[in-house]
Amino acid sequence: MVPEMEFIISTTKKQELVDITHQVEGSLAKSGVNDGLCNVYVPHATAAIAINENADPEITLDIIDALDKMVKEGGWRHDRIDNNAASHIKAAIVGPSANIPVKEGRLQLGRWQDIFLCEFDGPRERKVIVTVTKQGR
Ligand code: ZN
Repeated sequence: MVPEMEFIISTTKKQELVDITHQVEGSLAKSGVNDGLCNVYVPHATAAIAINENADPEITLDIIDALDKMVKEGGWRHDRIDNNAASHIKAAIVGPSANIPVKEGRLQLGRWQDIFLCEFDGPRERKVIVTVTKQGR
């Protein structure tokens, strides 16, 4: 039996990184698991999950700027379908999930690490699924 929890994040911009660390910690507390692995996943093709710093919020803007430089808007095959190929490519680069070890009921995030929902085609409602797996038997 794997406890599974979900929550919804309403993004407000075309592109943004939303800190969801507190929501994930809430899901972990609900799971009752003390030692194991916490998976955070978005079931969306133009959103992603990243772990990085939020003490300086400009880093989240730098990440978006870097992806904008890597993936130019326009000219992609998928743009003929719904004109958001760059959003799909950025989501594929960052990836849809992250695993965080859990020890004594706490996420083992580093001092400078937070968990972010990465929005690349907002604003939208995004579902986040948190699955906590207990270690051992
Ligand atoms: Zn699309």
